[in-house]
Amino acid sequence: MTAAATSLLDAYHIKGSGLDVDNPATGTLLATVKDYSLDEISDCIAAATTAMPAWAKRTAKDRAGVLQRWYGLIMQHQEDLAQLITAECGKPLPEARGEVAYGASFVEWFAEEGKRAYGEVIPTHNPRARIVVTKQPVGVVSAITPWNFPVAMITRKAAPALAAGCPMIVKPAEATPLSALAIEALAYEAGIPEGVFKVVTSCDAAASGKLLTTHPDIRKISFTGSTAVGKILMRQAADTIKRASMELGGNAPFIVFDDADLDAAIDGAMASKYRNAGQTCVCANRFYVQEGIYDAFIEKFAEKVASLNVGNGADDDTDVGPLINPVALKKVSDLVDGAVDAGALAIVGGAPSELGGNYYTPTVLADTTPDMEISNAEIFGPVAPVFRFKGEDDVIEMANNTPYGLAAYFYARDLGRVWRVAEALEYGMVGVNEGILSTEVAPFGGVKQSGIGREGSRHGLDEYLEIKYMLMGGL
Ligand code: ADP
Repeated sequence: MTAAATSLLDAYHIKGSGLDVDNPATGTLLATVKDYSLDEISDCIAAATTAMPAWAKRTAKDRAGVLQRWYGLIMQHQEDLAQLITAECGKPLPEARGEVAYGASFVEWFAEEGKRAYGEVIPTHNPRARIVVTKQPVGVVSAITPWNFPVAMITRKAAPALAAGCPMIVKPAEATPLSALAIEALAYEAGIPEGVFKVVTSCDAAASGKLLTTHPDIRKISFTGSTAVGKILMRQAADTIKRASMELGGNAPFIVFDDADLDAAIDGAMASKYRNAGQTCVCANRFYVQEGIYDAFIEKFAEKVASLNVGNGADDDTDVGPLINPVALKKVSDLVDGAVDAGALAIVGGAPSELGGNYYTPTVLADTTPDMEISNAEIFGPVAPVFRFKGEDDVIEMANNTPYGLAAYFYARDLGRVWRVAEALEYGMVGVNEGILSTEVAPFGGVKQSGIGREGSRHGLDEYLEIKYMLMGGL
């Protein structure tokens, strides 16, 4: 690990009891960090409420300058942050470096976009009055974030909030508080006041989450995580009618039609499925391949998957790191065992890795069918179930037959089909002949039980702005 990353670990490591952070690749303790009490979190909410007026009153250009400095510092420390991410979350270092750049890109984007929170003047209904619409910050925002992108899931929320003039309190996942604390330190170095951005680490997700969704001074909750927890948080937020942005679970279909460019589809499948060991909410979860190219797809795909190196994300030649913890390993194992018992064929993998620990062998399952549990569950592991389909209508019906609607992917060349399928898929995001679609310039988000709201793009800023209509009368 770099010297800066090590010294940061030392700086946050507390003596005595607190939140223990383990390395999922080795099981060793990385650090023990502060476990904020509910009183301490309440104090942070009070500090944010006090800090809000001065932060909101600064010009957008002024806030942009501070955010640009934060962006610069994150990129300057890209390697240190990547080392921390790999140590606490397990993903291979090149992916961790990519996450830092991706996470920083939101800070840069919203630094600019904050300057364009335009209002409007609407042609009046009354000759003696004028209609003016302005946008104002929502207020103090709380955020609860997951472990699979421990930096980017924070910046994707904090950057638009701060750019809009809203203070934010973030409760990171228990597994990955270290990189969150590191970007908080960089935020302060950039000049963001402590009351305006605060990371609160906690061993008790339910209790801290309840406080952050029920406190009357918090106006909005922004959450990324499972649909089950999102529902709890929305219920809790209902009593005080908080605004809510929810980035929840997915069950992404990845469809390959007979007319697809097979090599491009395989490359897209590899990137979409095996990144972060299959632990992303937009990972392809169900592969549907048309019968004419099913066998060819399986053969080429299996060959590539078999060549993936499993290991510690800190090692140079690792393609697929460990799963986050033993519970995740058991869930993935059970899903694969259940599918194989029901008649699926493990062409590659199909079992935990011989390395032991939290490692699972990258797997391709052929002959999977829609009645198997694996086709309905979010796998969150390096496992690709491949279903066979006949026609366009069948596959659209199967793809949409889920309560989720985050990301979908398909490969086809026929222009009419491309439009028909893209429009028929009930998903917030559709990758057409592309397996990776996240970027700060486009709106990320889901429909159905995958969520509410969008992150990134100009739409991401609106999540932190209220519309105020002023009727200027007596003219
Ligand atoms: P994942 O399956 O990705 O771990 P979770 O929804 O369990 O997704 O976790 C996402 C975030 O939600 C984490 O920060 C976690 O600590 C938090 N969390 C988990 N359970 C609760 C809860 N009951 N109330 C509030 N937050 C929770």
